Amino acid sequence: MAEHWQNWGRSAEAHPVRIVRPASTAEVVAVVREAVAAGTRVKAVGASHSFTAIAATDGILLRLDRMSTILGTDTTTGRVRVQAGISLHDLNPRLRVLGLALPNLGDVDPQSVAGAISTGTHGTGGARFGIANAVVGLQVVTAAGDVLEIDEQHPWFGAARVSLGALGIVTEVTLQCVPAFLLHAREEPMALPAVMERLDDLVADNDHFEFYWFPHTEQTSTKQNNRVPDGTDRRPLGRFRHWLDDELLSNTAFEALNRVLTRRRSWIPRVNHVAASVLSAREYVDESYEVFVSPRRVRFRESEFAMPRAALPHVLDELASWFGAGHENVSFPIEVRFTAADDVWLSTSHERDSCYVAVHQYWRSDHRAYFAAAQDIFTAHEGRPHWGKLHTLDAAYFSDSYARFDDVVTIRDELDPGRTFGNAYLERVLG
Ligand SMILES: Cc1cc2nc3c(=O)[nH]c(=O)nc-3n(C[C@H](O)[C@H](O)[C@H](O)COP(=O)(O)OP(=O)(O)OC[C@H]3O[C@@H](n4cnc5c(N)ncnc54)[C@H](O)[C@@H]3O)c2cc1C
Repeated sequence: MAEHWQNWGRSAEAHPVRIVRPASTAEVVAVVREAVAAGTRVKAVGASHSFTAIAATDGILLRLDRMSTILGTDTTTGRVRVQAGISLHDLNPRLRVLGLALPNLGDVDPQSVAGAISTGTHGTGGARFGIANAVVGLQVVTAAGDVLEIDEQHPWFGAARVSLGALGIVTEVTLQCVPAFLLHAREEPMALPAVMERLDDLVADNDHFEFYWFPHTEQTSTKQNNRVPDGTDRRPLGRFRHWLDDELLSNTAFEALNRVLTRRRSWIPRVNHVAASVLSAREYVDESYEVFVSPRRVRFRESEFAMPRAALPHVLDELASWFGAGHENVSFPIEVRFTAADDVWLSTSHERDSCYVAVHQYWRSDHRAYFAAAQDIFTAHEGRPHWGKLHTLDAAYFSDSYARFDDVVTIRDELDPGRTFGNAYLERVLG
């Protein structure tokens, strides 16, 4: 009987013929060879935190959670070799013990290293990059059953870091880490016009700046995270404040509220005004990974696009007009982040300083009309969707939007001509 798989956002599901949990690269090779001989597809999944069906398979599903150790550390260079199934949640404190850290992270940490890099997972920072930029080498099991080492000199390096899982099974990753660091977090409410007026400075003057805009209001919650000088002490959030803000208000109460608002959608604008007006400022100093990451227990769906930074005021105006026209009331804040241009071929920030705008919808509410309207706005500004977040675009769009798209397709044809690692999502986005 087929197994059942579904993602975190409950926006994708599949029935793999088998779920296999290999413990070594050799076991991955054996599964891939066996699958190719039988004409079965194979797909590795991490934490199933992608909202798109990028990880879905009706073939053999590989869970790499038994491949989760640190294989080696070079403390002089800060390079760490890990098995690709290790989660960021496990990796971050273990790097800390080694005196190291990843330079930047997203909002949450359950993702596997391979899953996070494969979709271009990113955090924020006007001069900072997504997680895949910390990768300096990968080991990939190809459809031929070969074990390929791809380092910075390899001609396929640009394609292999954000590969959408299309080139093979990533079994090991070398990460260029930085010395462990503390971040000073300053979170405060700010009016949207004030944020937009000061935006260039806020992005340039903070290591990591982001903000959440409450739809139907002109209010935002801003986050300014900055590295502190050596010798600064940790000043973590008190346990009560952490529980109140991050557990009770952001999760338990927000879940209860969203259940009510699913049935009382006309209340949402008023509720958003109240929610934005009760925000208060807070400051703390903690390990980088404790500051970057927050618990997210309210299930939602998300769509996020990267755009040129200059587009941001127009994008937010157009979203505000859409809300103003009364199409839909939305309770989840819109998240806005920034990253610097990079050289990863399918990175959403490829060769472009980017702003990211993310729209969310509670998982029990229909997201389709809202996300479709947002996608129209984003694509009118040359938006590139996050590969793991909902969108309906296809290869024709991406071949215009990514300068190296055709090169990725060529490498895929060479490495996986029989589409052993294919699925419907990859057929749509890669052609
Ligand atoms: C609550 C929540 C918060 C999030 N926050 C952020 C954020 O702040 N920033 C951001 O950019 N994204 C964010 N995301 C999106 C998430 O980071 C990405 O979708 C990421 O890819 C999920 O990692 P995963 O381990 O769950 O991978 P999965 O979703 O399981 O897989 C993603 C892709 O990686 C491939 N893959 C996994 N393992 C391997 C392997 N070993 N070899 C080859 N391919 C592999 C899969 O086949 C699939 O194509 C968030 C998602 C959720 C649900």
